[in-house]
Amino acid sequence: MKIEHIGIATEGIEDALKFWRDALGLEVAAREEVTEQGVRIAMLPIGETRIELLEATNDQSPIAKFVEKRGASIHHIAVRVPDIKAALERLHKRGVRLIDDAPRVGADNCLVAFIHPSAANGVLVELVEHTEGKD
Ligand code: ZN
Repeated sequence: MKIEHIGIATEGIEDALKFWRDALGLEVAAREEVTEQGVRIAMLPIGETRIELLEATNDQSPIAKFVEKRGASIHHIAVRVPDIKAALERLHKRGVRLIDDAPRVGADNCLVAFIHPSAANGVLVELVEHTEGKD
């Protein structure tokens, strides 16, 4: 397993880039909008992992609700797993509270599923399985 990325909820990606890109020196490798989740994303590689900047595209977006409640901050940690269905089954068997019982399509056409923060010390954990055999 690897840390696939660290998701950071922002009030606006362009403003967040003033730190992550301009001041710190990371580069934006990809941008994407995931309409179903009401979120816009910028991915900035750092070592073997990536910083995922998240911005809400509407008021109903989970990111909008998170920022309203807790302000801009770390939103989730994504763990890359080789087989997301097997990982979910393992967690389910152990009584771990899941947000997604079945994987769904996330950014970059990966399969993703979220684990409830109450199961992981208050941290929202995202599982990610890369599809299409890419690294
Ligand atoms: Zn993520």
